Amino acid sequence: MRIDLMTLFPEMCDRVMSESIIGRARARGDLDVHCHQIRDYTLNRQCQVDDYPYGGGMGMVLYPQPIADCFRAVCEQAGTRPHLIYMSPQGKTLTQARALELSKMENICVLCGHYEGVDERVLDAIVDEQISVGDYVLTGGELPALTLIDCVARLVPGVLSADECFTEESHFSGLLEYPQYTRPAVWEGREVPEILLSGHHANIQKWRREQAVERTARRRPDMLQNATLTAEEEARVAAILAEDAE
Ligand code: SAM
Repeated sequence: MRIDLMTLFPEMCDRVMSESIIGRARARGDLDVHCHQIRDYTLNRQCQVDDYPYGGGMGMVLYPQPIADCFRAVCEQAGTRPHLIYMSPQGKTLTQARALELSKMENICVLCGHYEGVDERVLDAIVDEQISVGDYVLTGGELPALTLIDCVARLVPGVLSADECFTEESHFSGLLEYPQYTRPAVWEGREVPEILLSGHHANIQKWRREQAVERTARRRPDMLQNATLTAEEEARVAAILAEDAE
């Protein structure tokens, strides 16, 4: 998969995506990531990228032209027109399901806004989708874009060592993940649940499923609307919800 990022802070973004799992996937060639400096596409001598908003108001707004020209260059370099996502607090909230769909695309490009945002005309002209990372406002689109790219990239085949690394995780199956433990078996007097030391694979799977259902019912009951539960699990959930309502 090829991912292009349009930003005023390409070095910062590239640095973050050079570390750990994403960095190793890039080094192996499983991911092709390119960070582009929007400022390089300005036409004025000062390389100014923003100006005051028409109609007055606080802050500065990014010019449409450098963004449109930067995207044109991305299309040329990629040899195709990537699906263009603008990171925005006004977009649809990012979900695991949308990340999975995006991970199946060959090319995506992510636009980071800054200051007060981006001239609406360029968004209307070239953006395919707006994505938010939550109902709060950050100073720029870089952290949201890095969040989106990290979330999408780890679902690209080959980036993680095996698909099970994410298929059992929170939000993938519609449930939160069961609790995880590692060595030592006893830490500061706290023991790992005995079942996990039993070596009995089927019982461990059963326990983990029960824990996932229980944890989701207690922490994120809203998620259960979309989860597929057995009759026994539904009864357990109803009991937990009744308990919590008391
Ligand atoms: N004035 C804009 C508004 O009220 O919708 C907010 C601009 S924000 C200060 C600057 C940039 O940060 C945005 O253009 C966007 O790219 C990014 N940003 C801020 N919060 C975000 C969020 N929750 N999700 C995605 N991007 C966000």
